[in-house]
Order: sequence, then C-alpha cells, then structure tokens
Amino acid sequence: LLQLSVPLNFIGMLYREIRQGLTDIEQMFDLLAVEPEVRDAADAVPLTIDKGAIVFDNVHFAYDPARPILKGVSFTVPAGKTVAVVGPSGAGKSTISRLLYRFYDVQSGSISVDGQDVRAITQTSLRSAIGMVPQDTVLFNDTIAYNIRYGRPDATQEQIEAAADIAQISRSIKDLPQGYDTMVGERGLKLSGGEKQRVAIARTVLKAPPILILDEATSALDTTTEQEIQAALDVVSQNRTTLVIAHRLSTVIGADEIIVLKAGEIAERGTHAQLLEQNGLYASMWNRQREAIQAEEQLRLVRESD
Ligand code: ADP
Ligand code: MG
Repeated sequence: LLQLSVPLNFIGMLYREIRQGLTDIEQMFDLLAVEPEVRDAADAVPLTIDKGAIVFDNVHFAYDPARPILKGVSFTVPAGKTVAVVGPSGAGKSTISRLLYRFYDVQSGSISVDGQDVRAITQTSLRSAIGMVPQDTVLFNDTIAYNIRYGRPDATQEQIEAAADIAQISRSIKDLPQGYDTMVGERGLKLSGGEKQRVAIARTVLKAPPILILDEATSALDTTTEQEIQAALDVVSQNRTTLVIAHRLSTVIGADEIIVLKAGEIAERGTHAQLLEQNGLYASMWNRQREAIQAEEQLRLVRESD
C-alpha cells in the first residue's frame, strides 16, 4: 500500500496538468477502426469535465435500422465508481463503449457526461476525457519509451518510468539491454500480449483521463498474467469513472455495479454477491467460468507432474 501511494499522487498531479488539450491516442486503437459517422454540432462546445459521471438514459441503437442492438439501456456510472458490463458475445457490450466514445449517435434516449449530452459537445473534448485500454494494443515501430510517451507527448523520462511502474512493466524493461530505448513493434522486439497490454496501461496512466473504458482488457491473457494486470488496472481505475466490459467475470467481482446485458437489454443488475444470490444468468455464467478455470488448473497440474 505504501508503495502505491506515490504513484497515485503522481496520477492526481498529471491529471490536473493534462486534462486539457491531449493528443487523441486512441485514434489507433481498434475501437476507432470504425468509420467516423458523427460530426460536431454547429454550436458544439467543449466538455466541461468534472469527475466524468456517465448516464445512459433509455438508449436505443442499431447499426442497421432493421436490427436493433440496444433496446432501452439505462444505467449510471457515478463519478469515480466502476460499473461492469458483462453478457454473452454479441449482446452489445462493445457497442456501449463505442457510443460513449461517440463513434455513433443513439437512435433515441441519451448519453451524458457530467450532465452534458455527448451530442452537444465537441468530439475532441469528449475523447480527451476518456482513456481506453483495448483488447489489442498496436505498438509503433519505435522505442518502448516512445510507445508509452504517446499517452502524453511532453512527459519526462521520470514520468514515463513512474507510469511503467504502475503498469508493472518497469522491471521487464530494465532487464532489456537497451532498457527504455529498446525498439519494439514489427521491426523490433516482439512483446507478448500481456506486455503490450501493460504498455497500453502505462500510456493510459500518463494520459490520466477522468474516464476509463476497459473493453475485455485482459481477455487475451493467461490467468496469472491476467491477475497481475488486473492489479495494475485496479490501481489505475481508483477514483476514476470506469466502465469495464468483461468476458471473464473474475475481473469484475469488485465492481460497484455489474450490468448483465443480453440481446441488447439489461437482464440483471447488482453487485457480484447480489447477482449470485439471484441465481440467474450471471450466476450460471459464473459457475460455468469457475468450472473452466478449475479444469484449466487441473490440466496444468497434470502437465507439471509429467
Ligand atoms: P459484444 O461486445 O457484446 O460481443 P457488440 O457490441 O460488439 O457485442 O456487437 C453487438 C451486435 O452488433 C453483434 O451482433 C454484432 O455483430 C453487431 N455489430 C457490431 N458492430 C457492428 C457494425 N459496425 N455494423 C453492423 N453490426 C455490428
Ligand atoms: Mg465486445
């Protein structure tokens, strides 16, 4: 705990310094691989960001009018809290994050941040308030330092290293012959999925946005790596308004509220304990995943005893 207190102060400091005027680092992320379909309103104003409280109010959305995807979704992520969205593949979870980022506009209902409808504010100001840790992080063919600094172009080496510490990647970087100057990416050192994700987390730490979206951020990892990364993400999301979209339920146990989305509608909602108590869809998903983890564990024990 003592170790973490310094980085947290550091985040607070960075946050005050840079919440205005950031480069849009998410441009390259997969979420943004979608064609931009929305334009700023003629009278759009910059978002006045406080703590980033998010409200989805009766949101209806379809990519194709013939096929509704979200059918009246309402939820709130109170300032500084964490809400998780879980549910079967295709339920519309990632669509929620795309709408919050305003890749698309809702068909009816509204989405607001700190009381401001996202359709009334500039996209640049909205996106600079949101940090995202995507499933697949794209690295530039450049040094590790450059790849982390992308979260905040004017960051100093000390700030980069502090961010790498929080993301739990600094030790691995120091072990490299050229440390932070090591070239990575296609033409450099190939990093594992877990390492790339930690680079993305370090970037996000540097960006220090008031709002975080973690979209299945730990899905590509083995259980141990996932737990380490989860610990880093927990630190980053502390006191930040966080929307977690998760496939693995083990990552959302601590969320303030869990929303179970099924075919574009909220089927269940509550804390982990409340949802287990309800013994519905969430409870059955939980039991299924626990069995899968146990099977994985047993397989590992069998392999190790060979
Ligand atoms: P989840 O993240 O819960 O797996 P998504 O929000 O990605 O689900 O997708 C919900 C549904 O919308 C899926 O049936 C998917 O095929 C469809 N969909 C997603 N993106 C698009 C798109 N760009 N155009 C048309 N349909 C899409
Ligand atoms: Mg998804």
